[in-house]
Amino acid sequence: MKNFKKERTLVIIKPDGLQRSLVGEIITRYERIGLKLVGLKMMVPSAEMIEKHYTLDPEWVRITGEKTIKGYKDKGMKPPIEDPLQVTKLLLERLKKYMASGPVIAMVWQGAHAVQIVRKITGKTEPLMSDVGTIRGDFVLDSYEMSDIDERCIRNLIHSSGSVKEAEDEIKHWFREEEIINYRLIQEQILYDVNLDGILE
Ligand code: GDP
Ligand code: MG
Repeated sequence: MKNFKKERTLVIIKPDGLQRSLVGEIITRYERIGLKLVGLKMMVPSAEMIEKHYTLDPEWVRITGEKTIKGYKDKGMKPPIEDPLQVTKLLLERLKKYMASGPVIAMVWQGAHAVQIVRKITGKTEPLMSDVGTIRGDFVLDSYEMSDIDERCIRNLIHSSGSVKEAEDEIKHWFREEEIINYRLIQEQILYDVNLDGILE
């Protein structure tokens, strides 16, 4: 049977998140919903580390290229390049420059529906379109239009895994097994226990 409590996701606070002094705020958002922090580290990632991170799924290059081109067309804009693989190649160069520009914080969060819950709290990829109340919607104002004109990557504070499979691969890429800590958090009783029979004295 599926153990809901054990679902894990990877979150990276990107260089702009640190520079904006939003580390505490971001951690608070994931903490207060009831997720458990089971791994955390700070580092300046290499360009190779970032390239590998985004290409763990060999399909990512094609899917992201197609998605990006569709995005332009939906807005009535002409994509800078028509070939999806070339679009992603350009994107990847910008991602490497952005993500390796300073310290980042990588974290593993655990709990029921961790992947989906974190994506919901984080908000849509493009901050302009992220809902108010999400981290990106509340703390950053970037858009694809503005970042494209400046030929840079969109600054959206955070990376979070897009699926359970993606999370498993990404966690292995950023953390060694012994860097992730299995422990009990008292609040899990109120979140997950079937019977709440230990409250009254
Ligand atoms: P995420 O999972 O929400 O981070 O988004 P993706 O995995 O689809 O994309 C990874 C990164 O590629 C994003 O953080 C953006 O920097 C960039 N990206 C994705 N889609 C687009 C797009 O349509 N246009 C542009 N300019 N960049 C994009
Ligand atoms: Mg993604």
